[in-house]
This record gives sequence, C-alpha cells and structure tokens, in this order.
Amino acid sequence: MSFTERLLSWYAHNRRPLPWRQDPTPYRVLVSEVMLQQTQAPRAAAYFERFIRSFPDFASLAAADPDQVLKAWEGLGYYSRARNLQAAAKIIVARGDGFFPTTLEDIQALPGVGPYTAGAVAALALGLGHVAVDANVERVLARTHDIDTPIKERAARTRVRELAEGLAPAGRAGDFTQALMELGEVVCRPKNPSCAVCPLADICQARHLDIVAERPVRSQSRSITPITVATAVLRHQGHFFIQRRRPGGAWGNLWEFPGGRVEPGESPQDAAVRELLEETGFAATIEAPLGVIRHGYTTYRVTLHCYLLSPADPAPPGLPSPMLAAAVESRWAVLSDLEGLAFPAGHRKLIDSLQSDLRFS
Ligand code: SF4
Repeated sequence: MSFTERLLSWYAHNRRPLPWRQDPTPYRVLVSEVMLQQTQAPRAAAYFERFIRSFPDFASLAAADPDQVLKAWEGLGYYSRARNLQAAAKIIVARGDGFFPTTLEDIQALPGVGPYTAGAVAALALGLGHVAVDANVERVLARTHDIDTPIKERAARTRVRELAEGLAPAGRAGDFTQALMELGEVVCRPKNPSCAVCPLADICQARHLDIVAERPVRSQSRSITPITVATAVLRHQGHFFIQRRRPGGAWGNLWEFPGGRVEPGESPQDAAVRELLEETGFAATIEAPLGVIRHGYTTYRVTLHCYLLSPADPAPPGLPSPMLAAAVESRWAVLSDLEGLAFPAGHRKLIDSLQSDLRFS
C-alpha cells in the first residue's frame, strides 16, 4: 500500500469523534481551528461545545456582548483570537445572504486567520483541494521523509508543503489533512511516538535510520523570559477591587487585580503597594501574603507574587479618579461576582485559590 492508502485506511478506523467533525460548516470549522491554534484537541473540544452552545452561528457571535465572548474564551488564553473571531463574524454577517468567502485568499483576509487556518477551513469546510500544514503534519512528514533541515525554515517548509500536496488524493484533501494531523497528535507524537502501532512504520525513513528523535530538526531553541510580577488584592468590607484593562494587547478588555513588574532591588511586597498606588491612587498596607502563582506562555514565564492589602485610609476608598486609572473601568466586587467576568489565566488561578481559602468564605 502507498503512504496515502495506509494513512487514510488507518484514519477510517481510528478517527476520534471530535465535535467539530460532525457537521463541519464554515462557522464550526473556523471556531475549532482558531481554538486549535494554541490548544490540543481534547481540551479544545470541551471549550468548543460550550462556545457553540452560547454562539451557534456567525449571527449570534456577531451580535454578542464582547464580554460574554471573552468569558466563553476564558482559560484558552490568547484572547485576541476571540476578539478576531467576533470581528470576522461581523464582517461575514454584514455581507448578508449567508456569505462566506470561497477562496483561500479571501478566507485569509478575515481577522486572525493565517495561512494554516485558511487552508484548514478551505479543506475541511469547503472541500477545496488545499492541504493545511500544522506542526503535526510537519513532524510526520519530516520523519517519514527524513527532512534534515530545520523544520521552521523556508527550505523545509517548502518541502513539507510539496510533499503534502503531492500525497493528497484528488477530492480528499480534507480527509488527508485531518488524517495526518490525527496521526501526528496521537501516534507520531513529539516525544515517545508509538512507532509499533504506526501505519507508516514500514515506510518511515526516520524509523529505518533510527533517527526518530532527531526529526524534525529544530532551530536554535527560543529563550524563555522570566517575569516577576506583584499583584495587589485590595479588600474592603468583604469587597475586592478589580479593574478592566484597556483594549489592545494580549489581555485587552480583561479584568484583573492591580499589579505590575517588580523593579530590580524591590521586594514583591513593596511592588504590590507601589503598583496599587500608581494605578489607582489607593494607599494600602499588606495584610497577608496569598502565595505565588506561576503561569507559562510561549516565550515567557510569569511569577505572580500575590498579596492581600487593606486600604490605609479608614474611609471607604470609592473608585479611582479617571485621571489616575490605569484601566477603563473598575469596581468593588464580592468573590462570587468574579465568576462571571473574564480574567487572564494567572488571575483566574488566584481567584480559585481565594474561593477555596476559608478566610474569604
Ligand atoms: S514510524 Fe514512528 S516516527 Fe515514523 S511516522 Fe510512524 S510514529 Fe512517526
């Protein structure tokens, strides 16, 4: 059997029942592919079903309150994806008549849609003869065809695309794409691939040469930047002060506790007090440490030093004046109110720990 026959035969018997594979409309495929940009399929599946229940089509997503969209996305991170998805829905709805772009170029012109996502939507939802190449496809083809140049560099990318397009059978680019991705995710994993059960084992060059661990070839590894941040949880009469970030950036429009980077030579406690004062005008004193929360992102690792603070002024602190506010909105909220708002992942972990802390129950 050929490479393609082996792969499609394996896929026919092993494909996972992922929710977006049922009824692969452009909307469902676009939502799933945007989620899958940074999230593995099993985890994305739960978010996908919840998101689709809240926003079943382009029209409901376009008309939704942006805060509700961010809330539905909370936990997936990279919130610009949710904002772009809603912007794309508005463009599509504005065109009317069930419009959806029918060429790769026009799909790619939608906000937040890059070449990979456009290719996946074209192949999976529209049946166009495009093959989408993601990291799974790159890894499988780098191993089966022993691609010995760094996989993220132009030569290897060109080779992968040529191979994928050459191997995809006419009229089945969508199945072929999904089969390669599936094999890469569940069998030909980055570490400890299951070669013993792989349908391509007999024709895999890396396996025959015993160099599986060396494929794909990596470029020099990206360095991870550590960032140390102090977070001020200001409490007054059972209410916690929160603020909403300005639009733009990775966490634009999300809610947060005040805080910021710890300066060189500064203690995290002092940084929490200083950041709170700078951002809100509130003078406060440390009441108790709330622990350290670590959260990793693609290129940096954040360590949050969290503190409970009390207002230094015995009078009720009110809200910051607009001149001082580092945010577009602020409020005092009881813990249960925080459930319905979208926070960055590190702050959501902090809220979870506050909710399980007997001092705040
Ligand atoms: S034989 Fe092993 S390395 Fe080769 S494609 Fe299969 S799982 Fe990947």
